[in-house]
Amino acid sequence: MERTLVLLKPDALQRGLIGRIITRFEEKGLKIIGLKMMKMPPALAKEHYAHLTSKPFYPGLEQFMTHNPIVAMCVEGVEAVEATRSIVGATNARKAGAGTIRGDFSMSTSRNVIHASDSLETAKKEVARFFREGELFAYPSVLNGYFYAEDELE
Ligand code: UDP
Ligand code: MG
Repeated sequence: MERTLVLLKPDALQRGLIGRIITRFEEKGLKIIGLKMMKMPPALAKEHYAHLTSKPFYPGLEQFMTHNPIVAMCVEGVEAVEATRSIVGATNARKAGAGTIRGDFSMSTSRNVIHASDSLETAKKEVARFFREGELFAYPSVLNGYFYAEDELE
């Protein structure tokens, strides 16, 4: 099982999309094991987007991500990192595939409604950055045997 970090960005909240986006994760079978609303402090934005701080769009990105609350989510599943990136879609939402979250809900690269960790290594760091251990819940999922066959869970 992998865990990955998802952030519903301020545009998702303003546009009233958080319920529909969370539903997509539930329907897919990605298990939500952590969920909270928060206002991202600028220092956390700098850490989270450390690979982008030298880019010309960074000041706007930090302003946008910190100006209103976000919803942070930790989701769990077999190959959850890749599965999540694939339902999120391409960074430039105009090019994101139909049926993906960005493809269906956004027309922008900077107002693209959602963040998802890009690798297992990043996911481990990002989950720890946004959630304390006590904020993540390892509850049993009674439907596990319907979302996965046994050999997929080994
Ligand atoms: N971003 C932006 N303009 C750009 C590229 C990226 O505003 O030209 C923002 C956008 O919010 C994007 C985030 O920076 O989601 C992180 O960029 P990354 O390349 O990591 O894309 P992602 O992993 O979110 O698809
Ligand atoms: Mg990224």
